[in-house]
This record gives sequence, structure tokens and C-alpha cells, in this order.
Amino acid sequence: MHRKICTNCERASHSADIEGSWICPYCGADLTNLPSLPPEDFEPGQDPTAT
Ligand SMILES: [Zn+2]
Repeated sequence: MHRKICTNCERASHSADIEGSWICPYCGADLTNLPSLPPEDFEPGQDPTAT
């Protein structure tokens, strides 16, 4: 998962795929060119679905 903070409404959106376009689900702003942030919920490399 990747995370971006919308520069228009400042809400965080998440996507499992950073390929292609990334549109803010809240206000519809185009976040494609924003850098994605590391997820805050788990460390990189960990699989949150693993038990
Ligand atoms: Zn937005």
C-alpha cells in the first residue's frame, strides 16, 4: 500500500498500486505527480495480511 496526502483537501488516500493515475477519492484532485509516502500502519517488507 502507498499513501498520498492530497494537497487540495489534505486528506490521506491509499492505493496498492502507484502505476497510472492517482485521483483523490475525496475531492477528485490529481495526485499522480505527488510522491507517495511510506505507510504508517506497518513497516516496509512486512505483509499485514500474513498471520
Ligand atoms: Zn483531495
